[in-house]
Amino acid sequence: MATGAQDLRRMLDELGRISDERGRLTRTFLSPAMRRANARVATWMRSVGLNVREDATGNLIGRLEAPRSGAKTLLLGSHLDTVRAAGRFDGALGVLLPIVALGELRRRGVALPFAVEVLGFSEEEGVRFSSAYLGSKGYTGQLRAADLKLRDAGGVSVRQAMAAWTRGAPTAELRSAAARAPRPQQWLGYLEVHLEQGPVLEAKRLAVGVVSAIAGQTRGRLTFCGQAGHAGTTPMALRRDAFTGAAEWALAVETLARRSSPLVATVGAVVVAPGAPNVIPGEVVLSLDVRHPDDGARRDALRRLIADAKKIARRRGLTCEWQVTQDNGAVSCSVPFTDLLAQSVRAVQRRSLALVSGAGHDAVVMAALTPVAMLFVRCREGLSHHPDEFASPADLNVALRVIVDFLTRLAGHEKI
Ligand SMILES: [Zn+2]
Repeated sequence: MATGAQDLRRMLDELGRISDERGRLTRTFLSPAMRRANARVATWMRSVGLNVREDATGNLIGRLEAPRSGAKTLLLGSHLDTVRAAGRFDGALGVLLPIVALGELRRRGVALPFAVEVLGFSEEEGVRFSSAYLGSKGYTGQLRAADLKLRDAGGVSVRQAMAAWTRGAPTAELRSAAARAPRPQQWLGYLEVHLEQGPVLEAKRLAVGVVSAIAGQTRGRLTFCGQAGHAGTTPMALRRDAFTGAAEWALAVETLARRSSPLVATVGAVVVAPGAPNVIPGEVVLSLDVRHPDDGARRDALRRLIADAKKIARRRGLTCEWQVTQDNGAVSCSVPFTDLLAQSVRAVQRRSLALVSGAGHDAVVMAALTPVAMLFVRCREGLSHHPDEFASPADLNVALRVIVDFLTRLAGHEKI
């Protein structure tokens, strides 16, 4: 399997150089670099016997037919887009590792009794349109009219970007993509291999771990309004400073999350208006991101934080308003798939650890249609969304052996 792991590293390195920007890795939804990346990954897919097509959302799909028609399809994949100044592993690992694993099975002469699709989703990070999961939503038929109307910084809508993208694709492939409505009953499940993007596996000294659930998350904007005024002439007692109210609330957010593990809550962006050193802030908009593996606990925490904001606003003579921008429920991974994956993990590294994913992944969207499972790979210092993002060759080899073992086990279990 050592050659397979070497191939995987070479592919990750090469894909990591396909970028929209000079000197750093940035590959966004339906960009020129995305087209080059899809073309390169397509050649790797074909080299292990997959039939490759692209759908209207720019997703790259490599399909291996089952020996008998009517067999179900196992989906394996992740995303090929990146954040700005990204690392080489986030997303790409989950697309390339299954390709190498299928190549390994082919070398061993193992024929799987089910069909396989390796999916390279065109969008997960939300960089271009500030909206995540456009690729997996497109693949599963969950793109809504509101998604198509979103516009990027240049004023181009998702619909326009998709139209421009598909003009370059062979029409036959497009027609077959359009004709292919999702038929969930044909799917066996979805497995995503992903960099952990956190420090837990490193702390436990394990190369890989099995995800038990993906935390639900709510994102929104909280606006405090007060009264702007002269910083020199308005007495302290008469001020209605929107920023000091916002600051008090940000501390309340941290306090609640610290005492309510595994709740995590973050104020990550603050806009202060008018934003001058000699003017009392009249309006402040804060972002809030709240995550928890239990939906009820997440909603309770959110209710509490909004009530806190109202209390703080009232006491300080401010008004406040909460607006939700994103709300995803927690996703439980499939118990049978996860059990089988844990058997493979134990076979390769002796110990299997169950983890909750704090980050959202394509599996969140795929879970609407088919059972999902995820394998996390150790990430050096938990550092991700950064050029120094790193998974060691030894860990990649462990992950590859786990997936080959998993596919072999699943082939034995699946009576098709
Ligand atoms: Zn990712």
